[in-house]
Amino acid sequence: MDTPASQHPVQDDAAAQTRTTQTRTTPSRATPSRQRIDALLAATPTDLFINGQWRQAAAGASFAVEDPATGETLTRVASADETDALSAMDAAAEAQDSWARTPSRVRAEILRRGFDLVQDHAEELALLMTLEMGKPLAQSRGEVSYGGEFLRWFSEEAVRDHGRYADTPEGNLRMLITRKPVGPCLLITPWNFPLAMATRKVAPALAAGCTMILKPAALTPLTSLYFTALMSEAGLPGGVLNVLPTDSPASISGPLMADPRLRKISFTGSTAVGKQLMKQATENVLRTSMELGGNGPLIVFEDADLDKAVAGAMAAKLRNMGEACTAANRVLVQESVAEEFIAKLAQRMSALQVGSGLEDGVDVGPLIDAKACTSVAELVDDAVRRGAEVVVGGQRGDGPGHFFAPTLLRNVSPEARVVREEIFGPVAPVLTFSTEDEAVAMANATEYGLASYVFTENISRGLRIGDRLDFGLLGLNVGVISNAAAPFGGVKQSGLGREGGAEGIAEYTSTQYVGIESPWSG
Ligand code: NAD
Repeated sequence: MDTPASQHPVQDDAAAQTRTTQTRTTPSRATPSRQRIDALLAATPTDLFINGQWRQAAAGASFAVEDPATGETLTRVASADETDALSAMDAAAEAQDSWARTPSRVRAEILRRGFDLVQDHAEELALLMTLEMGKPLAQSRGEVSYGGEFLRWFSEEAVRDHGRYADTPEGNLRMLITRKPVGPCLLITPWNFPLAMATRKVAPALAAGCTMILKPAALTPLTSLYFTALMSEAGLPGGVLNVLPTDSPASISGPLMADPRLRKISFTGSTAVGKQLMKQATENVLRTSMELGGNGPLIVFEDADLDKAVAGAMAAKLRNMGEACTAANRVLVQESVAEEFIAKLAQRMSALQVGSGLEDGVDVGPLIDAKACTSVAELVDDAVRRGAEVVVGGQRGDGPGHFFAPTLLRNVSPEARVVREEIFGPVAPVLTFSTEDEAVAMANATEYGLASYVFTENISRGLRIGDRLDFGLLGLNVGVISNAAAPFGGVKQSGLGREGGAEGIAEYTSTQYVGIESPWSG
């Protein structure tokens, strides 16, 4: 039965993300058949991709990829080790010079063909993502649209990567300032957005003229492998994009980062692993881009449009089951409107359908694994022990999948772990404040600084608060702001560098200054 989209705010959000691009195949709303799933899994590569060839791991190792909705094994994927890593490094180093010299128009057109192929295969990519990661199909389609946009955006940026030309103030030199590809890169991605986190790195690196080794998360390698096959079909020369799934990430990142041919690491994942990689990067003074964890505040002022604020909170909290670095981790509401806001949010959250992401009408799929479910349950228990009241949900599902009910908590202590740590689950803790200063102090009381959200109909107040918030991203009266054309990234322990926008390509270039004798000096 078709469910009206307006009853499914999390899917409305995914639909909003799809608006920029029409997918070419009309999505079927029927639950995918076993036959279709088996055919897709059979068509998805499961090997390493090195120097333009699919190959098994040198040691013959492999690991299982599971469906988080059932706990069943979907398939097995080759697991790279140091030997494979060094073969990929050889290929990337060998291809670097010719890829850097390939005219930018040619690089741009390969990216554009990649974009077209991602659109043509949107349904396959979305289904793979739902199978290995769990999010509802409508949200997976939203991610295909969002992730694909990085290929289109950077195909356009590739030919516009200008340098500068000027005379020195003294008139003794002409300055030619160019931007060159930084060199071979290691790109490490997390499991929560299996396509977009890869395209957000691969597309600007390709546009800038870098070769690369992509290491997808072991929990969700299939989407990246399928995407790699599409990029190969789009015409990428061998060695430019090498892909190494592995269930032993440190055994490949260590040797790669110690190899002087590697020039950059771009990592998206937890702050703890990011810090470790930053320490390793000092040895060879590698360029680093770090997209790390978040603890986003969503602030609702008494002059907000409360329906808009509730819709924003639903999207910012529950998209991707709350497993997003941009998730609203803490909901801060002005006391005078707290009762009304909580009642409206509770009504929307208790109407959400939890289930397998393959089923039509489901809003909230499973969490990624049993460990994630246990961690979310511990955060809720800790909050309750410290006096929080459970308004909606509060418990994990029974059965084989890793489900956790959408949960709304009120009267949450600022000392509760759920307020101080990244939740990565469908749990919304509500805290209250009385003044603007208090809201800002509460919002900034975290070592993270990625996404923040403010709801107020007073635009001056919104912009004033924005100036005072120590966050790299601010959604003003909206709950989702990611876009390929916008610079995405954090401050404080949420990371270094930006992905997307004009800034995204700069992360993969280094500046060279050529001082030329002035034609007037003689
Ligand atoms: P994670 O840090 O456990 O893993 C991220 C990636 O690093 C995976 O590919 C993993 O295999 C790899 N990895 C783990 N240990 C490693 C090691 N010692 N050496 C090299 N690689 C290693 O994070 P996760 O659980 O996959 O992802 C969730 C985290 O990612 C959250 O903290 C979330 O906020 C963050 N995230 C940030 C952004 C952003 O743009 N800021 C986007 C998405 C996710």
